[in-house]
Amino acid sequence: MESEFHNAAYMKQFKAPLELDKAKTQHPVRDQVLIRVAGAGICHSDVHVWEGVWQRGGAPEKLPHILSHEISGTVVEKGEDVPETIKIGSKVLVYAWQWKFDDHYTVRGLTNVANTPSVPGINIDGGFQEYFLVSHYKYLIDANGIDDLPAIAPLSCGGLTTYRAVKKAASYIEPDDFVAVVGLGGLGSYAVQYIRLIAPFANIIGIDTRDESIEFVSKISRIDHSVNAKKTDVSSEIKKITGRRGLKAVIDLVGKGTLTTYSDLMGKESIYVIVGLMGTDREQITSLNTVLFEKTVTGSYVGTIGEQMEVINLARKGLIDYRSPVSRRLNLSEASEGILNLENQKALGRQVVIP
Ligand SMILES: [Zn+2]
Repeated sequence: MESEFHNAAYMKQFKAPLELDKAKTQHPVRDQVLIRVAGAGICHSDVHVWEGVWQRGGAPEKLPHILSHEISGTVVEKGEDVPETIKIGSKVLVYAWQWKFDDHYTVRGLTNVANTPSVPGINIDGGFQEYFLVSHYKYLIDANGIDDLPAIAPLSCGGLTTYRAVKKAASYIEPDDFVAVVGLGGLGSYAVQYIRLIAPFANIIGIDTRDESIEFVSKISRIDHSVNAKKTDVSSEIKKITGRRGLKAVIDLVGKGTLTTYSDLMGKESIYVIVGLMGTDREQITSLNTVLFEKTVTGSYVGTIGEQMEVINLARKGLIDYRSPVSRRLNLSEASEGILNLENQKALGRQVVIP
């Protein structure tokens, strides 16, 4: 490392434009690894943190703060206890859902629901900077063999969260069943691909309130029926499509003002997976129907470190298109603009900052 300082985009106050400044480049010790950041994705959770309304784990721990939990890069320096298998120059994705202390969940592999989350970009400094110090090599996912390193950054949240959610629904879906994806933003462009992968002949119904989002995701993966929930009566539209069978699975990437509507459209032995973190209201599910129709309603939060490895393998094998969901590549000084785009519902797919 020649320079002891590097560029970073800082959030110095909530809801204020990010400011470019110098950050001290820390040298890794023990189990730590320093990476040169290739890509840092912008997620809706960054908007929540930036607005000061993030609810889980009291984030961020301090201001100024560096956003972005979707980080890919190249290993440039490593601590003395980092094994030989992790080489200088290795391409990596940083598993975002890190934890401070092992607990009942982490030792069982459920790292996504750790009791002491310590997530870059949310609790601690994240990826909107040229260099990022990874606290332990165990959080590095091997990304060698991946051509477009910046474009895999969103796979640590957008592409992981949807993978876990679709896997939860997978055993319910049979060929020719109807599967609804509610919300075709950043997450939707991955969710539709996973459904195609695990249930190639399912009928996918894509729902959004913006025609441009429907169009964007349709170009990445085939959507059999699309519904603009702002322009049409979504309930009667979906009943027309599914007939008496109803929806076999709902992947709800919004989670706000959606549960009541879409749970009523579920068929028998069906599953509803809530993914979106927007909802804090109490919504209604009819209990009698849940029993008579044997409905399952479940939540799905990000993904485990094992699932993260699976996602990268799918990308490496070309089984998912990780490039097309990336609609824009921004530099550090444009990170603010990216956050505002997302807040104002102007972004399509995922935006990635290249520091
Ligand atoms: Zn995220």
